[in-house]
Amino acid sequence: MTHRTLLRAGHVLSMDPDIGDLPRGDVLIEDGRIAAVDREIGADAEVLDMTGRIVIPGFVDTHRHTWEASIRNVAPDATLDDYFVDILDTFAPLYTPEDVYAANLAGALECLNAGITTLVDWSHINNTPEHPDAAIRALAETGIRAQYAYGSANTSLADYWFESKIAIPGDDVRRIRTEYFSSDSDDALLTLALATRGPGFCVNDVVTAEWALARELGIPITVHVAMGRLAGRFGMVKQLHDLGLLGPDTTYVHCCYFSEEEWRLVADSGGTVSIAPQVETQMGHGWPPVMKAIEHGLRPSLSIDVVTTVPGDMFTQIRAAFGAERARVNAASWQADVPVPDTMLTARQMLEIATRNGAHVAGLEDRTGSLTPGKRADVVAIDATALNVAPVHDAAAAVALSADVSNVETVIVDGVVRKRDGRLTADVARARRLVEESRDRLLAAKEARA
Ligand SMILES: [Zn+2]
Repeated sequence: MTHRTLLRAGHVLSMDPDIGDLPRGDVLIEDGRIAAVDREIGADAEVLDMTGRIVIPGFVDTHRHTWEASIRNVAPDATLDDYFVDILDTFAPLYTPEDVYAANLAGALECLNAGITTLVDWSHINNTPEHPDAAIRALAETGIRAQYAYGSANTSLADYWFESKIAIPGDDVRRIRTEYFSSDSDDALLTLALATRGPGFCVNDVVTAEWALARELGIPITVHVAMGRLAGRFGMVKQLHDLGLLGPDTTYVHCCYFSEEEWRLVADSGGTVSIAPQVETQMGHGWPPVMKAIEHGLRPSLSIDVVTTVPGDMFTQIRAAFGAERARVNAASWQADVPVPDTMLTARQMLEIATRNGAHVAGLEDRTGSLTPGKRADVVAIDATALNVAPVHDAAAAVALSADVSNVETVIVDGVVRKRDGRLTADVARARRLVEESRDRLLAAKEARA
């Protein structure tokens, strides 16, 4: 029997240019798929009253090290250099599969609670073959849409992060693919990618082998590039170009210190971009290059990156990017004594970047990122009657600039309600207990090693 849910009488921001905004609109979901978006829809369905709500597609976080949920805020004042030592060299080697499970469970629920319906889990914590199983099991249990990006082990900074000779184990990636990702159907919630370290961090043989592995398996690649002075100097995209490895299957994360040539190389090769603005401004990666990416014809997305140091929600990222980009342009215009250009970023663009562009970057735009009939139903309702949002003059601005996690009232992924009336349907108490136990275990292991 067909299962129908009707979101009735919301202010619908479809983020689909052909549909646009419906100040009073209905969204009909049938068997997990968006069946119709229109001013008024009659259907025999479970009705969710959206009066006073702004209805948007779910946010897409295109890069988060979800395993770090257990060590939230352990590095509040860290620079990128500190982070390598404090997190990757200190905590990562101590992670057990149980820690990864707990962190991914709590971290994915954190996403759902905040209206992030699609997550790229950049999982460079695969210290044993049990680690990826634990990560994937947790993602699957929460019902989030996720791209699991299989990364390297993280057993010591010296072995794994500079001129590393150790490659991601191809046989284990193949095993994971067979066990969890054999379905190619377009409604699969979980998809697979490869989280590579790239040139500078790895020797060229490893880089070439990892790119070849991803292409053999037909899975996308995600790689951190041009963050901070360190990786900026590597000229990683230039090096990838020299190795003949650039392609449309690759997401470049951060991109703060790209040369003009590297921007062109990424754009010309059809690559995609993930920007983590709060991390980049706070930790010294560089200016979040949202406008730079747009100027090169790219469709940048946003990502959270690390909850060791920044908040885990998309509202923060939207405002960090919006504020930083406009600060940069305003300062440059003032310095040059010219008016600010009329191409300044807008609040509505930020909402597009956080939703539709995210789906594009994760390679999932055919199934999510906008409220478009035929796509899977990943839908979020924001309570616009709350005092920090009302009264609404401009619904896109209300979401981009006023709303926060407390206003995320309803979250639907693949047609399934994961948050209703402001409460997650999952066992939150269990997730919190597990992630607190993981915190305690990791701190004890750190003490024991010291
Ligand atoms: Zn990262």
